[in-house]
Amino acid sequence: IDPDLNNYVREVKEAVFSIVKPISFKTPLHLVAYSKEVLEEILDMDPSIVDEKDFLDFVSGTEILKGTTPLSHRYGGHQFGIWADQLGDGRAVLLGEYVNRKGERWELQLKGSGKTPYSRQGDGRAVLRSSVREFLCSEAMYHLGIPTSRAATLVTSSDPVMRDQFYDGHPKAERGAVVLRLAPSWFRIGSLEILERNKEFDLLRRLTDFVIKQHFPQIDMKDNDRYLSFFSHVVSQTAYMIASWQSVGFSHGVCNTNNFSLLSITIDYGPFGFLDAYVPSFVPNSSDDEGMYSYDKQPDVGYFNLDKLRIALMPLLTTSQNNQMKVILQGYVDIYKKNFLTLFRNKLGLAGEQEQDEFFLAVLLKIMEETKSDFTMTFRNLGDWKVRDMKMYSVPDDLWALHQLENHKYFKQWVKMYVDRIEFVQIPDEMRMKKMKNTNPRYILRNWIAQTVIEQAENDYFEGVRQLLTILQNPYVENEYAEKMGYASQPPKWASSLRVSCSS
Ligand code: AMP
Ligand code: MG
Ligand code: MG
Repeated sequence: IDPDLNNYVREVKEAVFSIVKPISFKTPLHLVAYSKEVLEEILDMDPSIVDEKDFLDFVSGTEILKGTTPLSHRYGGHQFGIWADQLGDGRAVLLGEYVNRKGERWELQLKGSGKTPYSRQGDGRAVLRSSVREFLCSEAMYHLGIPTSRAATLVTSSDPVMRDQFYDGHPKAERGAVVLRLAPSWFRIGSLEILERNKEFDLLRRLTDFVIKQHFPQIDMKDNDRYLSFFSHVVSQTAYMIASWQSVGFSHGVCNTNNFSLLSITIDYGPFGFLDAYVPSFVPNSSDDEGMYSYDKQPDVGYFNLDKLRIALMPLLTTSQNNQMKVILQGYVDIYKKNFLTLFRNKLGLAGEQEQDEFFLAVLLKIMEETKSDFTMTFRNLGDWKVRDMKMYSVPDDLWALHQLENHKYFKQWVKMYVDRIEFVQIPDEMRMKKMKNTNPRYILRNWIAQTVIEQAENDYFEGVRQLLTILQNPYVENEYAEKMGYASQPPKWASSLRVSCSS
């Protein structure tokens, strides 16, 4: 590490950013994959640019653009419930902000581009396997309609990065990689928490005002209650984000306050996982021994994290406003439940609202849990099941997830209720089926699928990652290649033994 670059590890005070420089790789670079859509629609680039050396230099952190000042952000956070003090961008560098032709602001960030003042014991790098996962999942989540950061490119080199591989316990050299990722803002709950904890109240106010001004145009900056409005927005948007995670069986894995965005978008993809079998207590992160961030605890964790945001904002508020903040936070539970129910009603293709819908859904989830049916394909298959066949309780062979549920003692009764519920609102069955096809994905980034393309990429075969990206960009559309690869089939036996660690 070159101290001239200002990247040396230290405790930083009275600052929101530190000036840094990405540190280049020493061995040749390979562009593993890129999102054509992000280049075209967000960065206003012609995709042929990927063949240019300047482009590769930029997206790998080899060269920065003239006139820009790369930064790493100082933030803190609660990790697994405990205040961790200064964390910060330990391996991420903000390259700059781009306002595109649609007038949208996007912050470009490299992840895995070397040490920063916030690297602590870390090397500032990211390995290929975790970078493939972040790259693919960002794009997959976007196409599932979930608020998320995006990813433009994924570059690897042969520079060795040492990681303690969890399954054999020995440090092992892996390939380093860097992702160019984008978000309207990378500020987190932890961005404000550290300022409150360190009593840097002036900065706390300035940063909060900056975030509101830049990203919440509906809030009047002259309004004395603007922090209440801001909090209220974050509460409802976070409730929505988590409900949408639940609706696709997504488990983030590391729901620390430093990984929770102030814009309520999904950020910092690490040891996440999508449910295969519906096991609500699913824990994707092998380091989360107590299951603190299991799939079913995410809604509660959202509340916990928002409470930390409330505390971070306290110095900016009067006593009366602080009391109102508690009331706003209480609203989280109902907002979450409402969103959850709406999303699952859509998943079941139910038109209108009926009082017993909540109970009706709960019964299905219980049956799914008891039969460990596949979360994604159960909903997809219900949408491919004609009411006509439901009435005869005849399940076509190819609807494999339904065969997992079929023998449960209450499933037949549930199907009867489903038929009644569908027919109650008299929409043609083809319409329900079509709606469900566009709501319930056929392809999600299952761990075993990610693992398959990661192993290929580690051996210099990048086509698998690229093909998978295309599939995940169209998660509702049946794809011949994906079917051939078994991406919508019952996961292979070895899938359930896969674990993902924080070491990345
Ligand atoms: P997270 O897993 O996202 O909660 O990360 C927690 C903190 O560790 C953040 O400050 C990261 O920037 C930092 N971190 C994670 N991996 C590394 C690494 N290899 N080198 C430096 N910092 C890291
Ligand atoms: Mg911004
Ligand atoms: Mg993080």
